Amino acid sequence: MTPNKYNATVVQKIQIRPNLMILRVATDEPRTKFAAGQYTTLGLYGYEPRSENSEPEAIPSKPDKLIQRAYSIASARHETQQFEFYISQVKTGQLTPRLFHLEVGDRVFVGRRIVGVFNLSDAPKDADLVMIATGTGITPYISFLRSHIMERPESKMVVIQAAAHQGDLGYFSELSFLNNAFPNFYYLPTLTDADETWPGLRLWIEELLDSGVLAEKAGVVCDPQKTHFYLCGNPIMVENVSKWLSEHGYEKKTRKTEGTLFVEEF
Ligand SMILES: Cc1cc2nc3c(=O)[nH]c(=O)nc-3n(C[C@H](O)[C@H](O)[C@H](O)COP(=O)(O)OP(=O)(O)OC[C@H]3O[C@@H](n4cnc5c(N)ncnc54)[C@H](O)[C@@H]3O)c2cc1C
Repeated sequence: MTPNKYNATVVQKIQIRPNLMILRVATDEPRTKFAAGQYTTLGLYGYEPRSENSEPEAIPSKPDKLIQRAYSIASARHETQQFEFYISQVKTGQLTPRLFHLEVGDRVFVGRRIVGVFNLSDAPKDADLVMIATGTGITPYISFLRSHIMERPESKMVVIQAAAHQGDLGYFSELSFLNNAFPNFYYLPTLTDADETWPGLRLWIEELLDSGVLAEKAGVVCDPQKTHFYLCGNPIMVENVSKWLSEHGYEKKTRKTEGTLFVEEF
């Protein structure tokens, strides 16, 4: 049997919901320093077992092929030998059911390169930042905050996290803690299908932006010169909120064009 390419070990697995987990892996060799918000790849061979609550693969994988997919890193940028990932299981997917079967001590492949342009390098220290996420799209913002919150006292930073139910709000405790600890950080979780125990916002993201809550709670204005917007997660959310922002003067930043709207789709 040919030797496998595994180069990292699972050191922690936190199963938040049947289809959501935080996975921490330690790589055998450190990676080079990366920018908060970037991503790398995780990989497992097709011969690895799938989780018990998964379904048959939509597209069968070959047993001896290393299945690789991109995952944003939640860790702070100085953590170059241990990486945290926040992963949602696609039950019929090729890789995620195999990742969900992993236990502490199991081996896995982690890409050698850390890449991506979704980061804060274009944000002046005094620009206000509004970071909007659905699902696992919260991950790059956790890295932004763990890496940079101390360095940006002049900047107001807001996280708007939208989900159906409270249990879907990954990193709720950490974000609530930052909300209490930093006077310039504001956490605005909003639920579209909450039960009566939820005391917070119940707005769709566009409704929240229309409602004036941003100015009222955080003193942040939707002005492309002053406030940078970040969108990460579900492509439909990204498309709809991008449309709202373009109607309010925002232009998307791309490799070729300037703008203060930054987008990452999963
Ligand atoms: C830059 C980048 C960063 C990413 N970061 C993360 C991250 O931090 N956490 C994370 O969980 N995922 C992340 N993803 C998505 C990830 O790369 C995989 O696409 C996802 O985990 C599914 O892989 P799979 O092999 O299980 O499914 P596949 O076998 O690749 O997909 C099977 C089918 O499921 C559907 N599908 C694919 N992805 C999703 C999805 N996310 N939700 C619902 N249905 C889907 C598609 O229709 C696809 O045909 C990221 C993607 C990109 C491009």
